[in-house]
Amino acid sequence: MHRDLYNIIVAKQVKRKGPGVHTKIIGLSIVFALGLISLKKKWVDSLGLLSGLIVGGSIVLLGDLEAFLPMMTFYLSGSLATKLKYKRKAQKEAAQPKGGARGWQNVWANGLMPIVFLILWRVLGSERWLFAYVAAISASIADTLSNEVGVLNPTPPRLITRPWVKVDAGTSGGVSLLGFLMAFFAPLLLGLVVRVVGLVRSSPILFSTITGFFGSLVDSIIGAEWQALYMCPKCSKITESRVHRCGTQTKLIKGYNWLTNDLVNLIMSGVTGLLGYVISEMFI
Ligand SMILES: [Zn+2]
Repeated sequence: MHRDLYNIIVAKQVKRKGPGVHTKIIGLSIVFALGLISLKKKWVDSLGLLSGLIVGGSIVLLGDLEAFLPMMTFYLSGSLATKLKYKRKAQKEAAQPKGGARGWQNVWANGLMPIVFLILWRVLGSERWLFAYVAAISASIADTLSNEVGVLNPTPPRLITRPWVKVDAGTSGGVSLLGFLMAFFAPLLLGLVVRVVGLVRSSPILFSTITGFFGSLVDSIIGAEWQALYMCPKCSKITESRVHRCGTQTKLIKGYNWLTNDLVNLIMSGVTGLLGYVISEMFI
């Protein structure tokens, strides 16, 4: 039984893209090299690095280079965007904490659902799950780039659920023109990569753009309505952390205290992936 399943998987690989062993070794080497670069450039902290190696390695083993290169595109563009004009973001209090080094929560928020979709693809054999995989990553790239570039918008963002309310840059649920542009072009770029590597056969660019833009909207709406928001009693500043950067314990003023930014990303990634599955079922 086990042997049969193994043969089916190997036979499928041979048919699809040759033996696949060499490309897996190349993929795992890239994961390792990216890990070293990430540590050196401080894109991740130590647990973030460990998580990234597990996520990257799993994706290479499950989906080979075709699946890994789109994820790598997200990771590289997201890391560069996080470091982009970091000092200016820090002045606006809109920068990621710890110098922009991502922790394990952030890695799993964006990596867990793609891995689940690849496992479902392997087990159930339907290409629809590859569309779900693409949709989950396009949501992550749209969300990360629209947040990290959008905070540099010259005018303050407005709440997506109440556009007449202006909020500080970096507030969850805040939207801006620059953010919208990134939520459109970032998943479009991802779709181009998916097309070049040939992960899914039909309309990857349109599919990725639509699902990614939708994903970032979902993230903004959940962020605006239910995500935990705190206030620092000492500085009277609104923040998403339980402890303000001044060291003071903050007070919950809105949303659920368990609903962190990373958890919102995880939900967005799963919801958008399932939507991608449905869209591919209906239109592709
Ligand atoms: Zn404070």
